Amino acid sequence: MPNNKLTILFTAYECAPFFKFGGLGDVVGSLPKILEKLGVDIRVVIPYYQIIKKKYPALKKKKSLKLNIAGENLLVDVFEGRLPGSAVPIYFIGNKYFNTDKIFDEDSRFRFALFSYFVAKTQSLFAWQPKIIHLNDWHTGFVSIFIKKLNLPIKTVFTIHNLAYTGETALNILARFGLTEKNFSSVEKGAVNIMREAMLKSYLITTVSPTYAEEILTPEFGCDLADILQKRKKDLRGILNGLDYNVFNPTKDKNIEARYSLKSLDKKTINKTALQKISGLSLNKNIPLFGMISRLADQKGFDLLEQIIDELMRLDWQLVILGTGESYYEDFLARLNKKCAGRFKAHLKFDAHLANKIYAGADLFLMHSRYEPCGLGQLVAMKYGSLPLVRSTGGLKDTIVGFTGKNIKAANGFSIDKYQADELFKTIRRSIKVFHQKKNWRILQRNAMRADFSWDRSAGEYLRLYQSLR
Ligand code: ADP
Repeated sequence: MPNNKLTILFTAYECAPFFKFGGLGDVVGSLPKILEKLGVDIRVVIPYYQIIKKKYPALKKKKSLKLNIAGENLLVDVFEGRLPGSAVPIYFIGNKYFNTDKIFDEDSRFRFALFSYFVAKTQSLFAWQPKIIHLNDWHTGFVSIFIKKLNLPIKTVFTIHNLAYTGETALNILARFGLTEKNFSSVEKGAVNIMREAMLKSYLITTVSPTYAEEILTPEFGCDLADILQKRKKDLRGILNGLDYNVFNPTKDKNIEARYSLKSLDKKTINKTALQKISGLSLNKNIPLFGMISRLADQKGFDLLEQIIDELMRLDWQLVILGTGESYYEDFLARLNKKCAGRFKAHLKFDAHLANKIYAGADLFLMHSRYEPCGLGQLVAMKYGSLPLVRSTGGLKDTIVGFTGKNIKAANGFSIDKYQADELFKTIRRSIKVFHQKKNWRILQRNAMRADFSWDRSAGEYLRLYQSLR
């Protein structure tokens, strides 16, 4: 009998817990585990960065081979592990170029192209060829280009996690892989838009929430690619990201001071006090503590905060931010650290342990993004009983029902419609009032903690999508 199992290689540049930069890493580290449970032969492949080498010295080397690529003979090592808590194989591809701590520097285009080339050559690297390769964002979008060029019998699915980052790559970098202008739909100013090519060359395109799938068809959110997406509209699906509740769960979390559930919500206060201590805030259980965990980028709403920070700091609240990113915002937050010590603290670093302490210790979670393809922060915050205050866009719109004062049964947070500083200010002020209405607050927390945004909800949609490509 022929083996009719779906065979899928899932690829991205990051995968939690091995190497994580943002929400994409969480998705790659969790969705394949559920698909495997649904009977798919799914494997993951990411680059073997130096940081992985240091963190996981016991990974087994599966193979070493020499490949002639990009004009040189490269020694390539393939390491193999398993996604924690599952049997899903994960491959790590190593060579001298990936042995670095730098991910987004001036060589990143070449590195991502090289990685994608290896992924397309899966047969020679893993002695296994999937029917489908699932690509995530432009970093692995190159795979679709190589598959077409090499005429391989593999279909690609391309998921857009953030349309704003399109990965323009100079033609002379691509030429090192034997690619010429003829291989692309368009070349502008000597560069290729990899997001655009992957959208055109893949069988199906998905993005990470139904609302974002609609938004990106419009010029406002379409990042100059709305016309391509309009053309491929019938092949575009919006599937909401899920969360791995084995990883993000206040009843099991070893990073937090006191574990708790809906039934023992009082213990959340212990985490609040711990967070106030770590952040040098005044110790006060009755003051609403807001958390924010985010890349410091324009997308995430820091410009709005900047506009109203003086008025905000006159409110009776505390705010803890964890993030790294644009130096402009790092400087802004560092200045606030000095000016508003005791009520405000920005931890300017990437720290997954501290992130969980914030989810557990905060009363509210700020996520008023300009746009948000899906967003995982608000989903984690809900599970930890910290009420998200969001801007109603993309996945935030699909997951958060803002409290209006009249919808206590359905609401699980607060939301603003327009991306405007005064609306944000009013909603923060209103949420502080509701915080002091203890009965309402508990109901909202219960609604948030009970919401199910696990992968069980949406993995089935991916399965159906893969099956349609058989
Ligand atoms: P994006 O992928 O756009 O950065 P998401 O909300 O989808 O935003 O996912 C961000 C993920 O990265 C969340 O799991 C969040 O907790 C985590 N994260 C963001 N910044 C930091 C940081 N500085 N330290 C630790 N975790 C972070």
